[in-house]
Amino acid sequence: EHALIDPDNPQIVVAHLRCAATELPLTLDELKEFGEYTPALIMLLEEMNELRHINDRWYWHGRGFPAADVDLRNIGENTYTIVDITAEPPRAIGTLDEYSAFKLVHPEAIYMHEGDTYFVEELNLDERVARVRRTDSDYFTWSVADTRIRIESSELHKRWRISDVHWGRVMVTETVFMFRRVKLHTWESLGYGRVSLPPVEIDTQAMWLIPPQAVLRHVREYQRNPAEAMLAVANVVAHVVPLFVMADMADVGALVDSANTGVPTLFVYDAHAGGIGFAQKAYELIEDILRAACELINSCPCEDGCPSCVGAPSWYVRLPQYIDGGDLIPDKEAAKVVLHDLLQLEPYTPKPKRWRDAQRQTAEATPSPLHTAKPLPEKIEAEIRRHIANIQQRRYRR
Ligand SMILES: [Zn+2]
Repeated sequence: EHALIDPDNPQIVVAHLRCAATELPLTLDELKEFGEYTPALIMLLEEMNELRHINDRWYWHGRGFPAADVDLRNIGENTYTIVDITAEPPRAIGTLDEYSAFKLVHPEAIYMHEGDTYFVEELNLDERVARVRRTDSDYFTWSVADTRIRIESSELHKRWRISDVHWGRVMVTETVFMFRRVKLHTWESLGYGRVSLPPVEIDTQAMWLIPPQAVLRHVREYQRNPAEAMLAVANVVAHVVPLFVMADMADVGALVDSANTGVPTLFVYDAHAGGIGFAQKAYELIEDILRAACELINSCPCEDGCPSCVGAPSWYVRLPQYIDGGDLIPDKEAAKVVLHDLLQLEPYTPKPKRWRDAQRQTAEATPSPLHTAKPLPEKIEAEIRRHIANIQQRRYRR
């Protein structure tokens, strides 16, 4: 028993679909009762990981996030001292700001410093001390964070080729909630560990690029996820930006967010409170940066993406919200479609997705019944994306 959908009211549409799908999986016939835009909506909800399509039924998926303390801490105020407790007497080997400390010296991290490896016994937030001991480790650790960005103000704006590009002030909130152990040399994954740390918020500067809907639609035509494609682009950009703005990898962050603009938007931000100009340089050099990203991805010899191109930058990993099954390498082929379109190069035709899981291959073999969907009006699609992103954010804050 479902009311007809008012396509001008995305909140109600999404609420109805969620209520219906959490009770029972929905069939295509039932979905038709939701009105003419339903197929387009279903595709959108699938793309944002809220619905899953299994054997002609749609299940509410709505991935949760780890509980996080919302007591935000400011990076500028807190400096952590790293103390080697195996030294006699214990001695300080360095300091880190809180933003870096949570990523690099969380409990059980392997911390590398001047060629030595240390195991982190304790990160004491009250004393602002990380206690570490020397160790010969055959693995290293990557922290995994959930990163949120909020636009405070746009200070500069330009039309670059077919995209809108901005520079301005943002708030970045980062929660390190787990880490990955990776074997040295072979990069074999040795499993995950949990971390319980409060979010850190920094007030900083960012450049952001809003891709046109036509580019996202082009990715979708190949049954690939535009948000995942943008994440792959962001990861490549994170590799090349430091070369252009004369920064270390750790000085600049890159991520994708839909909550601010309603479309998966590429952000490049200064990973230092207040900002120190890297994002502004990236704004000025957007053409060079995306060209270099395109060259890097096209020349990388890997088949399906690797940590040197579309994989997350090597020293820490952002939560790949758009990817199922804990796969940390987003879609390389889809990233090429985006980059070629943004740079107005010859359109790129992706290779078939032979490496994706069986579920997805089946989906590819049988064209989705939704494929002829009437597209949502752009403004409504943007509103729905913002709405879902907000739901996901609230879920994360709980
Ligand atoms: Zn690669």
